[in-house]
This record gives sequence, structure tokens and C-alpha cells, in this order.
Amino acid sequence: MAGYLDARPRVGYFYAGKTGNQLLAERLRKMKVSDYKARPVVIREASSVYDAITTLFLEDVGTLYVVNEEGLLAGVVSRKDLLRAALGGKRLEDLPVGVIMTRMPNIITVTPEDSLYDAAKKLIDYEVDSLPVVVEVKEKGPRALEVVGRITKTTITRAFVELGQTDR
Ligand code: ADP
Repeated sequence: MAGYLDARPRVGYFYAGKTGNQLLAERLRKMKVSDYKARPVVIREASSVYDAITTLFLEDVGTLYVVNEEGLLAGVVSRKDLLRAALGGKRLEDLPVGVIMTRMPNIITVTPEDSLYDAAKKLIDYEVDSLPVVVEVKEKGPRALEVVGRITKTTITRAFVELGQTDR
């Protein structure tokens, strides 16, 4: 019942006037990306599509984040990007992921300070499965982003299950 009642000196407990929905929304917005993010799986822009597919299987993820020579976010490559490339008939060992990836600045990202709710909203609004968690590397310019994590639909599902647990 936390949140329904509030306490004041000499008044005691009183009804805080918040609906269950308001309390849930408050709790949701307190859940931060930094507390839920998973380890990012990254590959170099020059890596081949063949290596990207292998990494996808070995790391058991659906999306890879692509970084440039400086280790900064260059793009994103998804399962369907790789499937499309595989159907293209080119030699996958010779085709760099940099050629087929979705490229910066068109990448939708979140920061560790963002709420998990905002991340979930971006996943829905932009119809993507995964968001790189990034921090700006200021000395390298406004679009220089280091990848520090990933938020996926699985992350949100896990948090949803956690919210539904009644024993906490
Ligand atoms: P899939 O295509 O495997 O279902 P997505 O729905 O996540 O996976 O990807 C759809 C398209 O959006 C792909 O072309 C992918 O490169 C791109 N994409 C995926 N994640 C992002 C992101 N965070 N920002 C921008 N584009 C993305």
C-alpha cells in the first residue's frame, strides 16, 4: 500500500490522494536504464556480414551495435538486415557490415539516466527491438557516442515481470 498514505508531524497518517495508476506511473518512471541495461554486443564496421551472423549466434542476441575505429557508435545491424544481406547473393565474407547497417545519425539511443519507461516508449514509437545505451564523449564532438549497454524488448519484459511480483 506504499504511497496511498502519507505522514505529517502531529497529523499522523492521511490519504495521499493518489490513484493506483498514478502510483504505478511514479514507480515506472523511477526505474532507470542504468539499473536494467544489459551488456552491449558490438562489432567493428569493417567486420564482414559473415562474422556478424556468427556473432549473433554466439552471443545469442538479435541486434549488434557497430562501432568505428575509435570505438564510437557507427550504426546498428539487426537480424533482418543480415537476412536481407544473405539473400543478396554476394559473398558474405567480403561484405562489410558497414555497408548494410542502419547508420548514425539515424540511430535511436538512450542514456543511462533515462527512465526505462522512456526507453520502452522509444522501442514502440520507432518500431525497433533494441536501443544502444550511450554516453557522449564530449571531447570528440556532439555525435561521438560510446556504447555502454543495451535495452531490448526482453529487458522491458523482465522489468514488467518484476513489477508484477507481489512478494516485494
Ligand atoms: P529486425 O529487423 O530483426 O526485426 P528491428 O525491428 O530492431 O529488428 O530492426 C528494424 C530496422 O531498424 C533494421 O533495419 C535495423 O537496422 C533498424 N534498427 C534497429 N534498431 C535501431 C535503433 N536503435 N535505431 C535505429 N534503427 C534501428
